[in-house]
Amino acid sequence: MADVELRNVEKIYPNGFKAVKGINLTIQEGEFMVFVGPSGCAKSTTLRMIAGLEEITHGDIMIGAKRVNDLPPKDRGIAMVFQNYALYPHMSAYENMAFGLKQQKLSTHEIASRIKEAAETLEITHLLKNKPGEMSGGQRQRIALGRAMVRKPDVFLFDEPLSNLDAKLRVSTRVSIAQLHHNLKAEGQTATMIYVTHDQVEAMTLGDRICVLDHGQIVQVDTPMNLYQYP
Ligand code: ADP
Ligand code: ADP
Repeated sequence: MADVELRNVEKIYPNGFKAVKGINLTIQEGEFMVFVGPSGCAKSTTLRMIAGLEEITHGDIMIGAKRVNDLPPKDRGIAMVFQNYALYPHMSAYENMAFGLKQQKLSTHEIASRIKEAAETLEITHLLKNKPGEMSGGQRQRIALGRAMVRKPDVFLFDEPLSNLDAKLRVSTRVSIAQLHHNLKAEGQTATMIYVTHDQVEAMTLGDRICVLDHGQIVQVDTPMNLYQYP
């Protein structure tokens, strides 16, 4: 359980390009925050800095009480879901979900119990023996969601997780993500969600609040209702 706070965060890429220009934002514990904006506005760069996949040039990122600037991804209490699923092709769904937990040295029993629980929530129990190559995109993304879930992270990070799915799977997987957030809350495991998309429907249906970015700056942060109401 943790707030995520960005304090004057800047990103200058090695080629000198300033992609993120001083972002200040607090995402409350348990909140579902969506970053939207056109391609190139720095959604992904910002998310990757929170994840620890991209260095922070200036400013600080706090997750809970911890300043995470110099922490590797595995020590940040985060789990990330990617556009391309990022599953290991030679491992079964079960092994993909278990992999990170084995590295954390959890007991076989605890690993099995977490995977069982996540698989039931996401309705993927029948897929656990399959390899990613034997699954549809929607099924793969549910496995990736399961892999994030079993880590019981304080913060879930999503980088355009629905963009590779066709229209029908996009809706059903979106519903799974919304349910995941809802279920975790109901179980008292308040996870903070940070979700990047260029799709306004996803932003409106998933976000408690939406942060609109343009050219590496925040243009507006508000609830979907306030943001998209017409005068
Ligand atoms: P978005 O996710 O909103 O599409 P990105 O965060 O991927 O935007 O990129 C933000 C800006 O930073 C873009 O102008 C992009 O071209 C630039 N950019 C991204 N990665 C690099 C890099 N490694 N080196 C230089 N510029 C980059
Ligand atoms: P996305 O918009 O989905 O984040 P991109 O296609 O923009 O993905 O970027 C893919 C990869 O290329 C990323 O690792 C990003 O950092 C890098 N990249 C993007 N733009 C640039 C750029 N202008 N110069 C160098 N690398 C870049």
